[in-house]
Amino acid sequence: MAKKDIDWSNLGFSYIKTDKRYVSNFKDGAWDEGTMSTDDQITMSECACVLQYAQTIFEGLKAYTTEDGRVVCFRPDLNAERMEQSAKRLEMPVFPKERFVDAIVKTVQENIDYVPPYGSGATLYIRPFMFGSNAVIGVKPADEYQFRIFTTPVGPYFKGGAKPITIRVSDFDRAAPHGTGHIKAGLNYAMSLHAIVDAHDKGFDENMYLDPGSRTKVEETGGANFLFVTKDNKIITPKSDSILPSITRRSLMVVAKEYLGLEVEEREVLLEEIKDFAECGLCGTAAVISPVGKIVDHGKEICLPSGMDEMGPTTKKLYDTLTGIQMGRIDAPEGWIKVIQ
Ligand SMILES: *Cc1c(COP(=O)(O)O)cnc(C)c1O
Repeated sequence: MAKKDIDWSNLGFSYIKTDKRYVSNFKDGAWDEGTMSTDDQITMSECACVLQYAQTIFEGLKAYTTEDGRVVCFRPDLNAERMEQSAKRLEMPVFPKERFVDAIVKTVQENIDYVPPYGSGATLYIRPFMFGSNAVIGVKPADEYQFRIFTTPVGPYFKGGAKPITIRVSDFDRAAPHGTGHIKAGLNYAMSLHAIVDAHDKGFDENMYLDPGSRTKVEETGGANFLFVTKDNKIITPKSDSILPSITRRSLMVVAKEYLGLEVEEREVLLEEIKDFAECGLCGTAAVISPVGKIVDHGKEICLPSGMDEMGPTTKKLYDTLTGIQMGRIDAPEGWIKVIQ
């Protein structure tokens, strides 16, 4: 056993095949015992429910090496719970929580040589997913499913410092009221692809989606939740039934309250009031927090006082505290760190 010969600090974010992946199949109403496989290819019917009707859900989390050399991941029980919610909404079988966490641990253990060393900034990204695999032509849920977990090493999110990004208010909607915005389903991403390509073409890093009903309230971006800091240093995050409940954002709210003694609030946020905020960040597993410097609303620029050069001071404190907890430099709340090795 030896670490793979990879230039960890210069890794990007693209798929690199690792040695093993976890595979479990659901058939005749039950999950099989599951195995580790070396085969990264999937063969199924051309009429599989996932291919015809997009019956697929996923999760994303990371394994990394802490300061004292342990390999850990962050709150995998919450990924299991969220995947359960996603499965129920798309009429898919639930992969039990304890088995989910065990399978994560086993998959990382089997790919331990791909876990980047402490200090490299790189991590081993973990992708659990599930899809309807048997042939379905009339519209109905599949009755056979596959649950898989693969891993792939990814580089540091911020190379050469966390530079604030510019986002635009999107004319496209992400998720309908009472729709599927709150679950991690591939379908939410399929319909965001045109919006993100269009945003990039026009020089923006991301889309800010509004509530489709009134188009006055802030929801989230394609893959990250918003966190705002008010001028009197309160932390605010938008509340809506169609926002995906980010584990990073929920953890940051705890950090803000319990570690930094800040007031936190989850409430509706109007596009109107953004101009009065001091800082803005995007929260998700990939970046933890990505600072936003500018929001463009149809030609009207909203410039956050934190500017375009660096993270705002409160965003930075939140980022440093949560990454400190994850890397084992700061004591974690009970149950947040799952030790793998
Ligand atoms: C995955 C995801 C997030 C971030 O969630 P984390 O659990 O923090 O990684 C935010 N928004 C959407 C739409 C997502 O799919």
